[in-house]
Amino acid sequence: MAAQKSTRKFKAEVAELLDLIINSLYSNKEIFLRELISNASDAIDKLKYKAQTDPQLAGEGGEYRIELKPDPKARTLTISDNGVGMTYDEVAENIGTIAKSGTAAFSEALKNAKEGHAPELIGQFGVGFYSAFMVADKITLVTRAAGHGAAVKWESGGDGSYSIEEAQKDSRGTEITLHLRPIGDEDQDFADEWTLREVVKRHSDFVSYPVTMEVERQEPVLDETQKPVEGEFKKVVKTDVLNSMKAIWARPRSEVSDAEYVEFYKHVAHEWSDPLSWLHMKLEGTTEFDALIYIPKQKPLDFMRPHHRHGVQLYCRRVFIMDECKELLPPYLRFLRGVVDSADLKLNVSREILQEDRTVTAMKKALVRKVLDHLSEMEGEKYLEFYGQFGAVLKEGVHIDPPNREKLSKLLRYRTTLSKGEYVTLDQYVEGMKEGQENIYFITGDSAETLAASPHLEALSKKGIEVLLMTDPIDEFVVDSLTEYSGKKLRSAEKGEIGPEAGDEAQNSGEFEALLSSIGEILKEKVSKVAPSKRLTDSASCLCAGEFQMSALMFKLAKAAGQAANPPKRVLEVNLSHPLLASMRQIHKKDPSSPRLAELSGLLYDLALLGEGGKAENPAEFARKIGELAAKSLGEPSN
Ligand code: ADP
Repeated sequence: MAAQKSTRKFKAEVAELLDLIINSLYSNKEIFLRELISNASDAIDKLKYKAQTDPQLAGEGGEYRIELKPDPKARTLTISDNGVGMTYDEVAENIGTIAKSGTAAFSEALKNAKEGHAPELIGQFGVGFYSAFMVADKITLVTRAAGHGAAVKWESGGDGSYSIEEAQKDSRGTEITLHLRPIGDEDQDFADEWTLREVVKRHSDFVSYPVTMEVERQEPVLDETQKPVEGEFKKVVKTDVLNSMKAIWARPRSEVSDAEYVEFYKHVAHEWSDPLSWLHMKLEGTTEFDALIYIPKQKPLDFMRPHHRHGVQLYCRRVFIMDECKELLPPYLRFLRGVVDSADLKLNVSREILQEDRTVTAMKKALVRKVLDHLSEMEGEKYLEFYGQFGAVLKEGVHIDPPNREKLSKLLRYRTTLSKGEYVTLDQYVEGMKEGQENIYFITGDSAETLAASPHLEALSKKGIEVLLMTDPIDEFVVDSLTEYSGKKLRSAEKGEIGPEAGDEAQNSGEFEALLSSIGEILKEKVSKVAPSKRLTDSASCLCAGEFQMSALMFKLAKAAGQAANPPKRVLEVNLSHPLLASMRQIHKKDPSSPRLAELSGLLYDLALLGEGGKAENPAEFARKIGELAAKSLGEPSN
């Protein structure tokens, strides 16, 4: 039983984070209140969701509310809610560590954080609670989980350790008392009623539960005729609601200011930075819903982790149903945040029902359409900013969402051999196609620079044929699904036969036939065939996969994933007009079994590997060979 008071040390990264919060976040201290109110509102959301299946949970505790209680004399501010609360273990789990984040990822990010970027970093890690240490030098949290009798008290001075013990609390929910730091004349006073009113209005106006505060007022005393008695006042205590609770998504667009949209985003997405863009839609017709969807500016650091927050909040006629509703958006739009409010769902809808619900399917379809339209209407620069962050995720859609493939393919951007580092659309590529060009050429790999210089592209480049440089692993799946665009076939420049665009001067291989078959024999463990190349103009050799074989990148990926061991045997293409081949032919003519041939064949193979950005099979031996060859070609030193 974990009843005794125990004092524990924060995990190292929390201690670092606290330090950072206290020392570097001066500019905008008031947002701590938004964070605590958002947490309280989430806690009520959670309780409501749980109570759908277990109504007893909500039985106690009265109306949902979030209460602020400033005490100017004691210099404290208390924020309490009657939400779901936390158990002992939950407190230890949620408040002693950094929630929802890979701790390793956090430490890493902290190390790399540029000066002044701490706030965004903090936001990305969802460490809102700790921001209260900006204004408090001690925080006491007392909480009781819904359905539990025992409460827990957590306390910390933000100095590296915290204590946790069992406690008493009459009602369900969480109460957080901030012992405010001493303030100077210029500082905001968070024990002051008017400061709090202002801050709540600014950052938390739309929170859907009342944020209340008890206030004392002097009111005139009234006589029997309800007229004020001159000079006589009495003290009245009343409860004020500080926020309008207006559901921002349900209001007409023209009435919502950009500042309000931005504030709401920070609340619903738990973000500290502004969104990149948003779309506010009202759908009428067969499916009726309001939605307010945001595109974040940056992907969170833990974005690629499987447990990353995904999905939007689902409401039904302004009533909260669930958070992280994945059923409304396909996985390739998992970076979106926001709210969807439907008039057609039942309040007690469960995740299981959602998966099969026809209304939900229709809503999802409409949402995807609107989002893709929005993306396609975004201006160039801004779209590229988006694409840099989420392009790779969006590309998954080309693979998994055939009905939207065409729309998605218009959102693709690639650098090309001719674009000088700029990103172009497939339409732009098609417009720039040479006369008689039948195929859209691409090549996949790790780096655009290496790809652009790849020997596979020599002949195409000589003819001025543009090649798309694809550097996202997911591009392998894009080209696997998107086999055509605008009536033109997408064709890998490193696979199969090269198209007629490369030129059709077939190199006369007659005199080389014997040599090629000898090389083929020597390299038979490594290559499927040795063939004269139409791709090469300058380099001696390159390796080409068959049309239906894995590309070099695909093999690398499969190997990294433990799904492939040996590279598939590829065709070694050789450039018959290269002097190396001419020399080899001479050696072969004199002595078809010369050991030099074996050595040079190995060299041709290694050169092909290096040309595509790979490694020689045996780098040390390769280096030695090249050294020898260089020395030979330079001849004896004259002196
Ligand atoms: P975030 O809210 O971004 O997850 P926080 O550090 O603000 O990060 O909170 C950590 C976790 O602590 C929350 O996810 C929630 O589980 C829990 N928590 C915080 N405040 C409350 C509260 N008022 N009621 C219940 N649980 C809370």
